[in-house]
Amino acid sequence: MPGYHPPVRSRITHLIFFGVAALFGVVTAAAAFLLNTYRAPPVDPDWALPPAQSIPAEAVTVRYTGTATLVFSDGETSWMTDGWFSRPGPLRIFFGKIEPDLDAITRGLERNEVDELAAVFPLHSHYDHAMDAPEVAKRTGALLLGSESTANIGRGWGLPEDQIRVVTNGEPIALGKFTLTPIELRHFQFPDPDMAERALGDPDIKAPLTPPVGAFDYKVGKAYALHVAHPKGTWLILGSAGFVEGALEPYDADVVFLGVGALGSQTDAYRETYWRESIDSTNPSRVIPIHWDSLTGPIEGPFTGMVRGAALLSKGDDELLQFLKAKEAANPEIQFLTLPRYAPVVLF
Ligand SMILES: [Zn+2]
Repeated sequence: MPGYHPPVRSRITHLIFFGVAALFGVVTAAAAFLLNTYRAPPVDPDWALPPAQSIPAEAVTVRYTGTATLVFSDGETSWMTDGWFSRPGPLRIFFGKIEPDLDAITRGLERNEVDELAAVFPLHSHYDHAMDAPEVAKRTGALLLGSESTANIGRGWGLPEDQIRVVTNGEPIALGKFTLTPIELRHFQFPDPDMAERALGDPDIKAPLTPPVGAFDYKVGKAYALHVAHPKGTWLILGSAGFVEGALEPYDADVVFLGVGALGSQTDAYRETYWRESIDSTNPSRVIPIHWDSLTGPIEGPFTGMVRGAALLSKGDDELLQFLKAKEAANPEIQFLTLPRYAPVVLF
């Protein structure tokens, strides 16, 4: 008996339908692969510090969430930089609106074992530094420290004025035994002119900013390096890979937390100047690179490098790792270290 043959027209319709469905599946899978899978981060696994087995009384400890979010404590006083835990994805950053992820903030504070903070200091006002800080201040009683732009992020979130303090360039702030000195520097200079204009043009947030808003509504404000002195030691935190010639010359640091975000996309000359101004100027014995992990990667588990889609467009991470390895080889007196996620490490 002859088999059933559907009419030719119907077969063509089926073919088109399955063809389109298959193409849609392939495109969706490719997009998901490019946007949601990550390369290895641009740091040497040999630099990884293990979590502290035990913490001596009066030790100064540091905990790292990723990007430039660090918690410092000497057992009496705790404070943090940035306090950023939300991780909006690339589509929302470039095409949508963003706002603090309250559950991520809850988890982040829990994982850092933070309930009370003297201060939270966003190193500048871009979303990946300052967006969550007012909520962190609300939950922990912290003072929100930073530029007028950061203050306006606090005001827009409803943080009371008595929990907001605008800092002055070079003027020290005492938090228990910690003395924090903000030093105004330039933010990292994006080589791409469009990106530079979006991220750095018209730099100030001039009125209270209430999310949800576009990611680039979190304008840079002022970019600070933070010098910290404690009876146990000194350190410098660079949230962004920018510099002002000679600005750090007056400061010494035992440890430099070196912001390296996007540094791989810069020229050799820029990288060399950044190193000279940040490291040669302050003479540390330990360098701890920060802000090398993905801005959109998971907030738990191992740190990741950039998403594959971004890696296709730029070789930045490879260049960054090569630069850091070359600096390690050329400076054997300096120890290169990276921090574990959330677990405390004894700094001094
Ligand atoms: Zn920035």
